[in-house]
Amino acid sequence: MELKVNQDNCLGCGVCVVACPVNVSISPEVAGGHGSKTEEVIMMVENGVIKLFSEEKCTKCGTCQLFCPTDAIWLE
Ligand code: SF4
Ligand code: SF4
Repeated sequence: MELKVNQDNCLGCGVCVVACPVNVSISPEVAGGHGSKTEEVIMMVENGVIKLFSEEKCTKCGTCQLFCPTDAIWLE
């Protein structure tokens, strides 16, 4: 499985970024909704849309997909 995003459908809400347990462990400030200070996270919102940075760290847990309101991030 591979982590996919569709920036055209992304609202930039950041819910997936905050929900991802790997992101929170890499960059705890994302849990407070403050955005990541490091590009070491799997993904973050940049210029209003989701962007993948370190997708190789994804554990394929599916949490981001579950929380995204527009199906703009998913495992395929
Ligand atoms: S599938 Fe899990 S580990 Fe991978 S980006 Fe989504 S929430 Fe994070
Ligand atoms: S991919 Fe979905 S949950 Fe993540 S920022 Fe975009 S709309 Fe929000």
